[in-house]
Amino acid sequence: MRTRDEVTLQVAPRLFARARTPAELLDLPLTELQAILRPAAFAETKARHLRAIARRAVDDYGGALPCQEAALLALPGIGPKCAHLGLGIACGLPFIAVDIHVHRVTNRWGYVRTRSPEETMRALEQQLPRAYWVEINRLLVPFGKHICTGTLPRCTACPVLPYCQQVGVRYHRSPNETGSVPAG
Ligand code: SF4
Repeated sequence: MRTRDEVTLQVAPRLFARARTPAELLDLPLTELQAILRPAAFAETKARHLRAIARRAVDDYGGALPCQEAALLALPGIGPKCAHLGLGIACGLPFIAVDIHVHRVTNRWGYVRTRSPEETMRALEQQLPRAYWVEINRLLVPFGKHICTGTLPRCTACPVLPYCQQVGVRYHRSPNETGSVPAG
């Protein structure tokens, strides 16, 4: 189960109020770190991963993680999406972060035809202009949460309806939001 953004927005400021750097995070007792993270899913596991990552940053990299994909992917709990978010946002490098929203939306558009976020990432790397590699995540995550939702997307209110192939969309939300209507 993934942590909802609303919970992340509560937890992150509380964590940063106690620890702004990897070194400060290592000074936090594990029980306190777990308590700070507890509203999040798998808080105990995340606390262990955060400490291990902070330890690696301090011991191996002088206190700050490097802007290197392989180094980030070697950290516990870090997959391609998370690594690419860090490389794109913190390091300013061209990397595409694909989560379930980016995957779903680009497939419904018909822009890619893929079966997993990893496949979508590789397909986007082939055809999406580099200028959009970092910002596609920031743009499509809220779009996928509020417009192109997993079930019953809001196609009649969607600004890109004229350009969208609506792949796999059989029904979308009715304009008055009370039910569904067939797509197409
Ligand atoms: S038209 Fe519908 S399926 Fe296409 S992007 Fe908009 S909400 Fe999603």
